[in-house]
Amino acid sequence: MDIKYPLKTAYSLKVESLLNALSTDQKNGISGAEAATRSKKFGLNIYKSQKQKSLWLMAFEQFNSPIVYLLFLAGFASLYFKNPVEAKAIFIVILVNGLIGFFMELQARSSMRALKEMDVSYSRIIRGGKKIEIPSEQLTPGDLVLLEAGDVVSGDGRIVHINGLQVDESSLTGESFPVVKTSETLNADTEPSAALNMVYKGTAVINGNARVIITGIGENTQLGKISEMVGRSAPTKTPLDIKISKLTKKLIWITLIMTAIFAVSGVIEKKPWLQILETSIALAVAAFPEGLPIVATVALAHGMLLMARKNAIVKKLSAVETLGGVNVILTDKTGTLTENKIFVEVLSFPGEELNVAIKKGILEYKGARLQKSHENFELLVRIGSLCNDASLEGADKGKKSSGDPIEIALLILASAAGFHAENNIGEFKRISEMPFSSETKIMGTLHKGKTNFFVSAKGSVEDLLSKCKKIQLGSAQGNLDGSGREKILSRAEALSSSGLRVLAFAYLISTERPGDNYLQELIYVGMVGFLDPPRTDIKDAISACHSAGIRIVMITGDHPMTALNIAKKVGITALEDNKVIAGSELPEMELLGDEWKERILSTTVFARTTPKQKLEIVDVYQKAGYIVAMTGDGVNDAPALKKADVGIAMGLRGTQVAKETASIVLKDDSFTSISQAVAHGREIFQNIQRFVIYLVSCNLSEIFIVTLLGFFAQGSMLFPLQILFLNMVTDVFPALALGLGKGDSTIMQRPPRDPRMDIVSSRNWMVILIYALMMTCSVLLSIFLCRIYVGSDVRVINNVAFLTLASSQLFHVFNMSSLHSGMLGNEVTKNKFVWIALLLCFFLIVVVYLFQQSRDALNLDIIPFQAWVLAGLSSMLPLVLVQLYKLVFEKRSIPGRSKKTLVRPA
Ligand code: ATP
Repeated sequence: MDIKYPLKTAYSLKVESLLNALSTDQKNGISGAEAATRSKKFGLNIYKSQKQKSLWLMAFEQFNSPIVYLLFLAGFASLYFKNPVEAKAIFIVILVNGLIGFFMELQARSSMRALKEMDVSYSRIIRGGKKIEIPSEQLTPGDLVLLEAGDVVSGDGRIVHINGLQVDESSLTGESFPVVKTSETLNADTEPSAALNMVYKGTAVINGNARVIITGIGENTQLGKISEMVGRSAPTKTPLDIKISKLTKKLIWITLIMTAIFAVSGVIEKKPWLQILETSIALAVAAFPEGLPIVATVALAHGMLLMARKNAIVKKLSAVETLGGVNVILTDKTGTLTENKIFVEVLSFPGEELNVAIKKGILEYKGARLQKSHENFELLVRIGSLCNDASLEGADKGKKSSGDPIEIALLILASAAGFHAENNIGEFKRISEMPFSSETKIMGTLHKGKTNFFVSAKGSVEDLLSKCKKIQLGSAQGNLDGSGREKILSRAEALSSSGLRVLAFAYLISTERPGDNYLQELIYVGMVGFLDPPRTDIKDAISACHSAGIRIVMITGDHPMTALNIAKKVGITALEDNKVIAGSELPEMELLGDEWKERILSTTVFARTTPKQKLEIVDVYQKAGYIVAMTGDGVNDAPALKKADVGIAMGLRGTQVAKETASIVLKDDSFTSISQAVAHGREIFQNIQRFVIYLVSCNLSEIFIVTLLGFFAQGSMLFPLQILFLNMVTDVFPALALGLGKGDSTIMQRPPRDPRMDIVSSRNWMVILIYALMMTCSVLLSIFLCRIYVGSDVRVINNVAFLTLASSQLFHVFNMSSLHSGMLGNEVTKNKFVWIALLLCFFLIVVVYLFQQSRDALNLDIIPFQAWVLAGLSSMLPLVLVQLYKLVFEKRSIPGRSKKTLVRPA
């Protein structure tokens, strides 16, 4: 079927013409078969920049680097100077180097793809008359999409049915005020960007709902056009990328200076040109940290995949590094710290309170079935099931349920009390609703009964009471005066103090349809106390964070007493600490003086807060120098999630907007996953730091040896291919293995690292230098011993130097374990990749030795047995020295552990 696509003027078409142009239907959408045909024809709903580069390009890129050009130069120089064996060996080195790079990049890419697959966004659509959810990339022109608050629009589309739709288009326009949409047809001369009857991909629905016909997908959307422009410019770099390139630049300078010194001294000493050229190139190659970025990427991707398997999906690469440095987590309560499996525990009516339980689908009070004669009770249950968006299929059999757990609990209550929600709804048809929001903390619905109208409302006790004028007292009603309100509020406080979530219920009956603002002059009926127990594993996770120097702060919409009770139960607040700040106490941001800021920074529980106040608390912490992680789920949480250094959205109960804004999405909504993610964040950075220290110290030792031998033992100078072998084999594989290892056991017992710090601190540079000198000394020692015990044959000395350096670099990998973990059984000895890398490297050395050709290429000979022993023993020098240092100076206490967890960062 031919359709008009792309449809550029959809906003000026009458709905009929639009539907004709796109051959679709505003009730049933297009059929599944038609959608498949259109997807084939118009492609997926993705941008070019999201399409992967081809394997050919990836392979080609491995050879497109200055280091490979240098190697080619060396290879051709060898050919020119008639040394074909060496030339062949250099070309093999280029090939092997390219292959290693290619496979590492492939590995990183497949980890990233696996991560992406876990983070698919879905669209609710109607196809062939059926309501379904599809991955947003399968959206096609003519699809009928259903939008509601919290959704992110996944394609450009024309609104055909609307109910108070407001959209945040800041991702497109930069303007963050909500745009009120319409379904009216607009003039043809309207600016497309001002077309209020259109919605655009990437924008967020803040309020209301709508039905939309898709008119543009992928690059044919407004956002697609921008992405195409952005895609052409350089990709944005993460702080880690920037640090790695800063480090690389430093190392390049060191390389250049050393190479220049070497080349000049060679010229002065009138060495053969080929030797000067090749050794300079080998030196440059040896010192150049070309493996750094790719090993960092592999380590990062591997770590992120592990995080995802533990329920934390990282969406922004930079978040991994920041996460390791987080020193305060602002967390919500319900579902994150608690189970979010909610049960009715207490029914509280004026003058009467019942502790109830639902057993086998029956509501019991004092062990017997609760009779439903009570007027307030009947009203409360009715309100609970009318003012409710959850569903309970086969409720009496305790089967499938969907929706807000609090509302599910109310439906279960109704069913256990012998009410049937369907009957209620059948009798009282819902004609209007005021959805629950964390600002109003109330939900209300208006129903039309046979003879009258019924308003049902539920919400936080304080907020709902402010809308009530009367109180239901059995079959009578009374005025709700000040003391009556006081009594209810103090009962609510008492219930909250015991850790229950408390909801109040109210109603109104009238013969005439109430106005739009029908939540007023209500009649108070009673309260329900819900039990929402803390998650079982939460205490350990919180105490792990505390020992890691991370402050935990609860920010919840719930009652202050409920919040405090849970905070004490899970260990966020000390048992004797009763400090809690309610949102109503907090002054406006502009009026926050120093005293208030201090109060905020010293309080661990915030209750009854609005999303705007969450944003302000984040700001206070950030201005005090904290690195803030913050959880959120609602559409209104998006600004705070964006502002926090690490925004964490809830995968199960979070809105699409929150998930798209956050840098991490938790698959299971649990706080434990946050603490595990922090540990992984630290581990990934530690791994990167480790292999950088390892790689740079090995490279530096190569430079020292080449320079020293060049000056003092010219005859036994390392040959270029030997240097290349060291550089390409003995340091790359162990470095990679270090990048994939686990963190040491004290990783969560140290204070967080400042993520702004360089990968290699000045102290680390000292350590690198010492390691490099130790490896250099081990080579000098082997040469010295060789001269005494084996003889002064320059070839043998060269071979011994080469073998000593190769194996001392391999043994050096064991020096990379933390000073605080033991000599044996530490995180490096337990890393299986390290053992695989070592076996592989030793195997390659043996292979090189076995074949005449490779021996010749590397200038190796069959050397006396004593020479092997000397090389083997000397190469252990750095390992022995470091282990001795550990034994003698190992500090039993972990650095920074004594600094108490709640210390403010500098
Ligand atoms: P958190 O912010 O930690 O997730 P919360 O779920 O209690 O905690 P909100 O969802 O903002 O926070 O709820 C705030 C208050 O609004 C609750 O304490 C309750 O009184 C009321 N409330 C919660 N859910 C509903 C609902 N579905 N209908 C009406 N009122 C509700």
